[in-house]
Amino acid sequence: MRTLRTVPGLRTALKPARRAERTIALVPTMGALHEGHLSLIRAARAQADEVVVSLFVNPAQFNDPEDLAKYPRDEERDAQLAEQAGADILFAPPPEIVYPPGFGTEVRVGGPLTETLEGEHRGPEHFHGVATVVTKLLNMVQPHTAFFGQKDAQQALVIRKLVRDLDMDVQIEIAPTVREPDGLALSSRNVRLHGDDRRRALALSRALQAAQSAAAAGERDAAAIAQLARASMQELHVEPDYLALVNPDDLVPVHTVRDDTLVAVAARIGEVRLIDNILINGSGS
Ligand code: AMP
Repeated sequence: MRTLRTVPGLRTALKPARRAERTIALVPTMGALHEGHLSLIRAARAQADEVVVSLFVNPAQFNDPEDLAKYPRDEERDAQLAEQAGADILFAPPPEIVYPPGFGTEVRVGGPLTETLEGEHRGPEHFHGVATVVTKLLNMVQPHTAFFGQKDAQQALVIRKLVRDLDMDVQIEIAPTVREPDGLALSSRNVRLHGDDRRRALALSRALQAAQSAAAAGERDAAAIAQLARASMQELHVEPDYLALVNPDDLVPVHTVRDDTLVAVAARIGEVRLIDNILINGSGS
């Protein structure tokens, strides 16, 4: 595996693959790799000839300066893990390569997709930062396929819309959420959960399980399901930023659970803000 830091270097490295019409996959990450990221890299490896993993902690998508400052970084470890999972290229540009002096363009996906849930609580600028950096990474790598995680379900929808709206010639693959054995969704921020907070962090996945069980038991009323899910969080003294049952395609609130419904939750556990989600449906599966 090669580590590259500049766009010309990356393009030169990918030229032979492009000439030979070999398929190129991109897995964008902010590093601090865990099994969730590695599952994406393995999926990319299984599908494409050339696998590029990008590692860039994107300042433009952080609304909280402390969250950015405390974001875990260990490139050496990430490089080892990415290589073991099958990456051919680690693209790890410094911030001045991604945002050179004078940089002045922003990509915005407008409308409810970026204004609700995370957009409402972190501000839509978060998704403008995501859309801008993902556009840049897709332009830099020009992959045939790019892999993202269902863990960030709203982000995945924003990226699908971005690609559709701008006619980008790339296939977007969304991989399932990888969890700890006790249900906690893997996240780079989990290393910042100390002491009792690790146990309290289970409030998110337990709330989602409670919602799923209620739907499986025949409950169709979204408000009642949300109430049960919130109650299970209160047992761990966790108050969500939001807990919402929404349409998985457009994030519009659902009142009656008939078809596939996305249950999305966000909560602050100590100093760490976590998100999680699950798909439930009328038959509870
Ligand atoms: P991040 O480094 O947090 O920006 O995440 C990079 C990619 O990994 C995104 O597409 C995430 O949705 C995905 N990802 C993060 N956590 C998980 C997880 N637990 N399971 C599956 N994918 C994940």
